[in-house]
Amino acid sequence: MDCIRCENPIPAARMEALPETELCIGCSAAVGSDFVLSTRLVRTNKEGSMKVNYGGVEVKLVRRKIVPLRFGGK
Ligand SMILES: [Zn+2]
Repeated sequence: MDCIRCENPIPAARMEALPETELCIGCSAAVGSDFVLSTRLVRTNKEGSMKVNYGGVEVKLVRRKIVPLRFGGK
């Protein structure tokens, strides 16, 4: 498979180590990585509840938006 950013082939060894990746090593280093951690505060208490509740944090791994170099990506 090819890198979605620079469109060069991704080495098989990298695909084996990171099957989810859509970036070659160079692009991964340039943009950070394929995924970013997204955190969101969530309320865990029910509406109208008088109990003190500090809520929680939802952590999600989201795929980074990559703009291919030929479309002006950096
Ligand atoms: Zn690349």
